[in-house]
Amino acid sequence: MTDRYDAVLVGAGIMGATLAALLHELDPAMRLLMLERLDGPALESSAAANNAGTGHAANCELNYTPQQADGSVATAKALAINAAFERSLEFWATLRERGELDTPAFLNSVPHISFVWGQGDVAFLRQRHQQLSALPAFAGMEWSSDPAELAEWMPLVMQGRGASEPVAATRLSRGTDVDFGSLTRLYLQDLQRSGALELRTGCEVNDLTRKSNGDWSVELAGGERVQTPFVFLGAGGGALPLLQRSGIPEAKAFAGFPVSGQWLVCGDNQLASRHLAKVYGKAKVGAPPMSVPHLDTRFINGERSLLFGPFAGFSTKFLKQGSLLDLPRSVRIGNLLPMLQVGAGN
Ligand SMILES: Cc1cc2nc3c(=O)[nH]c(=O)nc-3n(C[C@H](O)[C@H](O)[C@H](O)COP(=O)(O)OP(=O)(O)OC[C@H]3O[C@@H](n4cnc5c(N)ncnc54)[C@H](O)[C@@H]3O)c2cc1C
Repeated sequence: MTDRYDAVLVGAGIMGATLAALLHELDPAMRLLMLERLDGPALESSAAANNAGTGHAANCELNYTPQQADGSVATAKALAINAAFERSLEFWATLRERGELDTPAFLNSVPHISFVWGQGDVAFLRQRHQQLSALPAFAGMEWSSDPAELAEWMPLVMQGRGASEPVAATRLSRGTDVDFGSLTRLYLQDLQRSGALELRTGCEVNDLTRKSNGDWSVELAGGERVQTPFVFLGAGGGALPLLQRSGIPEAKAFAGFPVSGQWLVCGDNQLASRHLAKVYGKAKVGAPPMSVPHLDTRFINGERSLLFGPFAGFSTKFLKQGSLLDLPRSVRIGNLLPMLQVGAGN
């Protein structure tokens, strides 16, 4: 076995797996090495239960369409996100047609709903609907402020809600729920089968150094080194320390602020079968997107469940299976100021 690869990808989450699949598309002759510290792929953020599985297409996420001073909403970000997700769908469809990706194993159709209450937010949603539904990307987006109709769209959300407050929602039926954990594993299995990718699990990357010929020397726990002209740090919360060790100037101001999201999960089949949607509310102005409350239908390993959250959590670990020293170890003179700014703003 040679110790030189065309690309080394650190971390077997959805980012590394997607990049590996794309690189293989572009050049099937590339020799790819993926290094993962845990015992298998997609055990951190990409695990299905560790994220909400929303195929973000800006159908329901209100933070992508901020209101402007003249009362209209800005649509540029929503359009860009929608186009990016369309490209993912096209890529998956292509692989599916070639028999290389079992799309039903990770992709489910779930309507995306935005739900608001109170005069101001109802007016905002009305404006957003008028502008977005006129665009081809969001054609077919429905609007309703009729509590009876909304109770059909999302019975659990409307149950017990008083009639005194105005409510409204928009719905796009072609939304999706994505099991990113399964998708990660499917990509990697296919690449391993084709011989394009070598995946080493239980293999932590400790350091990376640039050599005089431009190659990177990647050091694994235990001291082994592999050489490559191209390294991708898809290490999630483990990317920051490696970025800092790489010595590249761009790494200097980067910092990590480990706010996590936690969920209430309901596996009661009867209850879960009464809700088929991802219902996104509206966060307060200036609040991080993370604080948007949502009630989601999830499909994980063929099981349907409900997820409500996120509830913000804080830990000094950068990875679920990381160290409590991750945060203190990451602090440098160069990143102290940006960290304090983020901390103060959130
Ligand atoms: C609460 C929450 C909800 C979310 N909801 C959504 C959503 O609805 N839709 C959506 O699209 N996204 C969502 N996300 C974001 C999404 O989960 C992440 O963007 C995505 O999973 C990140 O993938 P990744 O491959 O970069 O990282 P990860 O999945 O974390 O993978 C990184 C991998 O690198 C490995 N690693 C780390 N350090 C090393 C090292 N030194 N050597 C070797 N391996 C290493 C880790 O073990 C891990 O396996 C959510 C995230 C959170 C936290």
